[in-house]
Amino acid sequence: MRDRSEVINEIRSTTEPWDILVIGGGATGIGTALDASSRGFRTLLLEQHDFGKGTSSRSTKLVHGGVRYLRQGDVSLVFEALKERGLMLQNAPHLVRNQSFVIPAYDWWEGPFYTIGLKVYDVMAGKLGLGPSRLISRDETINLLPTIERKGLKGGIIYHDGQFDDARMLISLAQTCEDHNGFVINYIRVIDLVKEKNLISGVIAVDQETREEFRINAKAVINATGVFADDILQMDNPEAGNMIRPSQGIHLVLDEKFLQGQHAIMVPQTSDGRVMFAVPWYNKVILGTTDTLVDRASLEPQPLEEEIDFVLETAGQYLTRNPGRQDVLSLFAGLRPLAASGDDEQSTKEISRHHKVMVSVSGLISVIGGKWTTYRKMAEDAIDYAIMVGELLERKCHTHHLPVHGFVSNPEIQVNPMSVYGGDRTQIEDINHEKFRDDPFLSEDLGIKKAQVIWAVREEMARTLEDVLARRTRALFLDAKESLQIAPEAARLMATESGLDPQWIQTQLDQFNLLAMRYLIDQA
Ligand SMILES: Cc1cc2nc3c(=O)[nH]c(=O)nc-3n(C[C@H](O)[C@H](O)[C@H](O)COP(=O)(O)OP(=O)(O)OC[C@H]3O[C@@H](n4cnc5c(N)ncnc54)[C@H](O)[C@@H]3O)c2cc1C
Repeated sequence: MRDRSEVINEIRSTTEPWDILVIGGGATGIGTALDASSRGFRTLLLEQHDFGKGTSSRSTKLVHGGVRYLRQGDVSLVFEALKERGLMLQNAPHLVRNQSFVIPAYDWWEGPFYTIGLKVYDVMAGKLGLGPSRLISRDETINLLPTIERKGLKGGIIYHDGQFDDARMLISLAQTCEDHNGFVINYIRVIDLVKEKNLISGVIAVDQETREEFRINAKAVINATGVFADDILQMDNPEAGNMIRPSQGIHLVLDEKFLQGQHAIMVPQTSDGRVMFAVPWYNKVILGTTDTLVDRASLEPQPLEEEIDFVLETAGQYLTRNPGRQDVLSLFAGLRPLAASGDDEQSTKEISRHHKVMVSVSGLISVIGGKWTTYRKMAEDAIDYAIMVGELLERKCHTHHLPVHGFVSNPEIQVNPMSVYGGDRTQIEDINHEKFRDDPFLSEDLGIKKAQVIWAVREEMARTLEDVLARRTRALFLDAKESLQIAPEAARLMATESGLDPQWIQTQLDQFNLLAMRYLIDQA
């Protein structure tokens, strides 16, 4: 990626309005900036913190149609998401992999019931299907899921969806946007909108590192700020009501011994009617999730005690080895930016995951709701509106078959954690070989190499220790204690690469230590 200072210089020196300005560097915003730049529009994206600091690094890591939405009868959403799932796998085979899920059946009717539903899921995916679903025997279920609770087990159903590393996908999409001459930058916060004759003509934004303020003009401004969308809508119209209902979901990360093997577990109906997953991710297991309405949007949402208990208890019902608090390696929460339906009584698990594109009277375009899986379609819809609002040249969307940065046709994604870098991997391995031949790993347990830190600073606009340990690598999300262990070495590597002093290292360590405490579970 470009050096951050290069993007700042471009912002300073641009006098003509940008064609498209996107606020928010999550899946929706980065996808939108990519759609715009690949159509040839001069595009700038501003993110207030790091790319993916919000919800887009905190998902369950599934690229899925959503079996659950099929049960709720939301056929159009499932159709759309299955198509997008297929396109994501085609365009980013180095980042998305085919993941098999097993639904364990404890009642005689569950097998045939879920098999019929999943056959419909397969048919809806059509040519973009990832493999047929089928009913499996009790023995085969135990064979695929060696740690599954056997008492009362009748059999299972196996089906396929996609799985990915959300934060890495985001960085690769940002790189793709740059490959198409778009500009993206982190740590620039939009604090106000600029209007001319009551129409939006740009934004006021502040560099969070230097406090420099910019007035940036644009023909179309897109609000892609997820759970923060109401803040921008209220900059436009202080009287605007709330469009977003944040719904929190938490995940617990455990050692791989709790699952053993490459198959995930899907529980279609927990005691309170939700869906629960146990999914292998790198060499750990992710358990989740919950669906709890919260009042306030925050960049670091805090898991509730009852959510932790619920996930552990539910996992314990399905696993031979009951996980306890002492087994949790990391704990993280995210907020779903659900588009409010206006019905306060509706429970969050019933609120539609469809996205909405809205244009305000002043011309502010807001794209809200949706899922990671549908980011591309959300972006396409937002830019179609932006063309009308900004009176831009009509140009067709190109992202259906646009390879994502690093695309390689035959990645070893099942076996090598470095394969998420795709075509860039050899350059990182070369740095590692050159500089760290005798001691290549930052964390051997997590498979993180020292050169990944150098690469993150040089090529991926990582500015802080948190950027490197939470999103460029996933250390904090995979094992918070281990991330604290490797933090001093990572900070030293960053400082050497950027010519920063020991004071910088100390500040970064202090800040990261405080943050990592939130990902460690309270043993009480
Ligand atoms: C628990 C959970 C599990 C999920 N699992 C899945 C899954 O497995 N598969 C799937 O497809 N989807 C999943 N989702 C949904 C998916 O993660 C979200 O729909 C998606 O990440 C939302 O992306 P976004 O860009 O809209 O929001 P965000 O990622 O939150 O991005 C918004 C960005 O805007 C920035 N911003 C806010 N205000 C400003 C400002 N004033 N100036 C500049 N920038 C600003 C924020 O810092 C933030 O980075 C899950 C969601 C949750 C909560």
